[in-house]
Parts: sequence; structure tokens; C-alpha cells
Amino acid sequence: MGDSSETKTAGNGRPEISVIIPVYNEQETLDALMERLISVLDAFGEPFELLFVDDGSSDKSLQMLRDFHLADARIKCLSLSRNFGHQVAVSCGLDHAAGNAVIVMDGDLQDPPEILPDLVRKWREGFDVVYAVRQQRKENVLKRAAYASFYWLLHRVSYLDIPLDSGDFSLMDRRVVDLLSQMPERNRFVRGLRTWVGLKQTPFTYERSARFAGESKYGLTKLMRLAFDGLVSYSFVPLRLVSNLGMLVSLSALGYMGYLIVDRFIGGRGTIEGWTSTVVILLFIGGVQLLSLGIIGEYIGRIFDEVKQRPQYVVGERIGLESEERSQ
Ligand code: UDP
Ligand code: MG
Repeated sequence: MGDSSETKTAGNGRPEISVIIPVYNEQETLDALMERLISVLDAFGEPFELLFVDDGSSDKSLQMLRDFHLADARIKCLSLSRNFGHQVAVSCGLDHAAGNAVIVMDGDLQDPPEILPDLVRKWREGFDVVYAVRQQRKENVLKRAAYASFYWLLHRVSYLDIPLDSGDFSLMDRRVVDLLSQMPERNRFVRGLRTWVGLKQTPFTYERSARFAGESKYGLTKLMRLAFDGLVSYSFVPLRLVSNLGMLVSLSALGYMGYLIVDRFIGGRGTIEGWTSTVVILLFIGGVQLLSLGIIGEYIGRIFDEVKQRPQYVVGERIGLESEERSQ
């Protein structure tokens, strides 16, 4: 919440607002992004820091960020040792942000910097999470349809009420950020974790622009992984589906068995007939078993990932941040 009096002031003072921006090969947008961000935030007049997380970019992004820091010390950067993925980059930013309010936004200008003051104002009203909800997507029909069906499915199956059409673009109170940083899970789906926290959350509607430049870094496979992460991490429905399917197949098998036995003794027919039905049943059950194993495997894979207890990311270079970790 807006009151910062009890929060400890670290060294040269805690900025009121941190803005976390994951960056993966965004050299074409960084200049424009920086210009818009700085002019909006300077006009707003609150002390702030811009915390970029370079997610193993292979273009000039990192060099540009170094230069930005030299020109303005409020611009900081953590460079990950390789590409860890958007969600992990955001988590890394959350672990290192110092502000009392922490904003997460994309680096491709799809999230307009101009609404940041509005998010902060909402936070001052006493909300712990202000999540931006896009009114309209400016993307091609296929991608829009994919997103729509994903959010619909997630909404139907998830045990959490993850708000429709909200991405990671949001403002979180320090309290929420600390909670997120303490969550040890490796398969991060930040908007899910954010919803899980609860507290006082409110939407803020805005219009999502098209990407400023460059290509979306989410190809179809990456997007499907994210969707799967969302589904498997916040729902037991796939597992329940498997057991229901197993039940259904066993019941029909039992019924068919009864029919065969009755047919054998009352109808007096032999068992040689029925090769087709045998094969069909065999294939069907085989298919169901493989599918079920696959779904269970998804959960086991995640368990395996979690028990390894590897760090989520490796920071290769810190630009403008002290070397020792903030005590958690
Ligand atoms: N991003 C990242 N690591 C990745 C992929 C993307 O840090 O592996 C960043 C990217 O630079 C951008 C944000 O995450 O700032 C959102 O990515 P993108 O615009 O490609 O996703 P979309 O808007 O298409 O969902
Ligand atoms: Mg984008």
C-alpha cells in the first residue's frame, strides 16, 4: 500500500517505483522505450528506478543498456547468463527490485508507459495489485484466437480465478513482491502466482498496442509451453480427465465383457468372430493409456524440475546494482 514509512531505506534511499522490463533482443525498440518511459516518469515526479533484465540477448541490447546506465544512474540492468525465458526474467527482476511499488512491463512497447502514473494512483488508493487488462489486441487473427481459447480454457479448468486477458503488465506492492520472491517454484507463471497471493487486486483497462518493432519472441511452441505451464500448474483437471477416461473405458469394457459372455452361452456363438472389434478396442485402450501416461508425465516432469532445487537463473553481469544480494 502507499504508505512507505515502515519500509527500510537502503543506502541511498529506496526508490518509490521500480519498473522491471525483461529484454530479449529488443535493440530496435529500446531507444523509443527509454525516451517514453523517462519522459512519463520524470513528469510524474516520483523517485524511480528502471530495472532491465537482459535475458541473454545476442544483439546490441545489452550494450545499449550499459550506455543508458552511464547516462542515467536510475537505469539499472541485470544480465542473465543465457536466455532463461520471459517468466524467469521477470522473476529475476522481482527478486532485485527495490521500489515500494514494482511495475512489470514488456520491453516492446506493447504496454504503453503512459499509463504507469495511473497504475501508481490506483496503488495509492490502497490496492496491493493493479493489473492491466487489455481492451483490444492488435495482433493477427490466429494469435488472437489462440490467446482467446487459452484464456477461456484456463478460466474453465483452473482452481484459481486468473483474470481474463491480463498479462504480466501490472503494479505490485512491495508486500506482494516479497511474497513472490519467497515462492520457490521453478515453473514460473507470474500472473498465476500473482493471482494466488490474493489481497486487494484491481484491474485497470487499457488498449494494447501492436509491437513497436521486431518480432514477437514467443513462437508457437513457446506460447504453447506457457499455456501448458499455466494449465498444469494451476489445475488438476487434466489429471481428473485421465481418471474419468479410465473409468469410462473400464466400464465399457466391463459391459462388453458381459455381452460377450451372455452371447457365448445364450446365443451359443463361437468366439472366432470379432477380430475387428478386438483390434479396435486394443488400439483404443492403448491410445488412452499413452495419453494418460503423457499427462501424468507432465506433472512428474514438473515435480522433477522442482525437486532439483536449481537456482532459477544465473546473473552474468550487474549494471548499476550493488554486488551483494539484498537480504530477503
Ligand atoms: N522476452 C524475454 N525472454 C524471452 C522472450 C521474451 O525476456 O525468452 C521479453 C521480450 O523482450 C519482451 C517481453 O519478454 O520484452 C515479451 O515478449 P514478446 O513481446 O515477444 O511476447 P508477446 O508480446 O508476443 O507475448
Ligand atoms: Mg510483445
